[in-house]
Amino acid sequence: MTTTAVVTGGASGIGLAISERLRADGHRVATLDLNPSGEAHSYKADVTDRDQIDAALAEVRANLGPVAILVNAAGMDGFKRFTEIGFDRWQRVIDVNLNGVFHCVQAVLPDMLEAGWGRIVNISSSSAQSGQQYMAHYVAAKAAVNGLTKALALEFGPAGITVNAVPPGFIDTPMLRRAEERELLGGTVEDHIRRTPVRRVGRPEDIAAACAFLVSEEAGYITGQILGVNGGRNT
Ligand code: NAP
Repeated sequence: MTTTAVVTGGASGIGLAISERLRADGHRVATLDLNPSGEAHSYKADVTDRDQIDAALAEVRANLGPVAILVNAAGMDGFKRFTEIGFDRWQRVIDVNLNGVFHCVQAVLPDMLEAGWGRIVNISSSSAQSGQQYMAHYVAAKAAVNGLTKALALEFGPAGITVNAVPPGFIDTPMLRRAEERELLGGTVEDHIRRTPVRRVGRPEDIAAACAFLVSEEAGYITGQILGVNGGRNT
C-alpha cells in the first residue's frame, strides 16, 4: 500500500535511514528537520514549534496527500550531572523529545482519523528502560514517550491507528559519535561493542527495519508496544 509518511529528524542518523527505507518500500516520504537535507520533500520545522509543524504539514498535504504514517525520530540528547542541569536546559530537552511528539501526533491525527487508518512510531531510547546517569532530563522525556505511546494506542486503536515505540540502544549516528568525541559514553564505541551481546554497534538501518514492519499493513494487530532494537543490551 502506497501512503504518505512523515519522518521527523529525517535529515540525519536514524530518521534519515527510516526515510530512505520507507521510500524504498514505496511510500511517499516527507521529512521535517531543523536543517532540511535538501532532498525532495524535506521541510524545515522545529518540532517544538506548532506553527512551523502546521506550515510544513500543509505543504506535505498539498504535495503528497494526507499523512498516514508518522515516525517521530527528531531528538536531542544531553549529558550533565543532575545537580547541574539548569531548568532551561531541562525544559528544552523535554520540549524536543517529548513535546515535539505531542505536537506532531496531534497535527497529523486528523488525516488518520479521516482515513480510519494510521501508523505512528515514536523513537524513544533504551535509556528509558535502563536509566542512564547524567541524562536525567533525556531519560525522563524518553520514558514519557513510552508512556504516551501506550496511552495513545488505547485511545486510537478503535480508529484504526496503531501507536508503537522503538527505543534504540547504541546506534552509530552523528549523535552517538558526538558523544564519543566528547568522552561522554563511559568508554569508546569499541568498548561498548564488547559489552553488547550481538558484538556490534547498531546501525540506523536496524531501526529503520523495525519501523518498516511496524508501519506495514501486516503489523495492524501490534499496538502500544515498546520494541527494543539494541543488540541485546537492554532486554
Ligand atoms: P541525530 O543524528 O542527531 O539526528 C537527530 C535529528 O533530529 C537531527 O537531524 C537533528 O537536527 C534533529 N532535531 C533535533 N532537534 C530538533 C527539533 N527541535 N526539531 C526538528 N528536528 C530536530 O541523532 P540520532 O542518533 O539519529 O537520533 C534519532 C533519534 O533516536 C532521537 O530521538 C534520539 O534521541 C534517538 N536515540 C538514538 C540513539 C543512538 O544510539 N543513536 C539511542 C537512543 C535513542 P540537527 O542535527 O540540526 O540538530
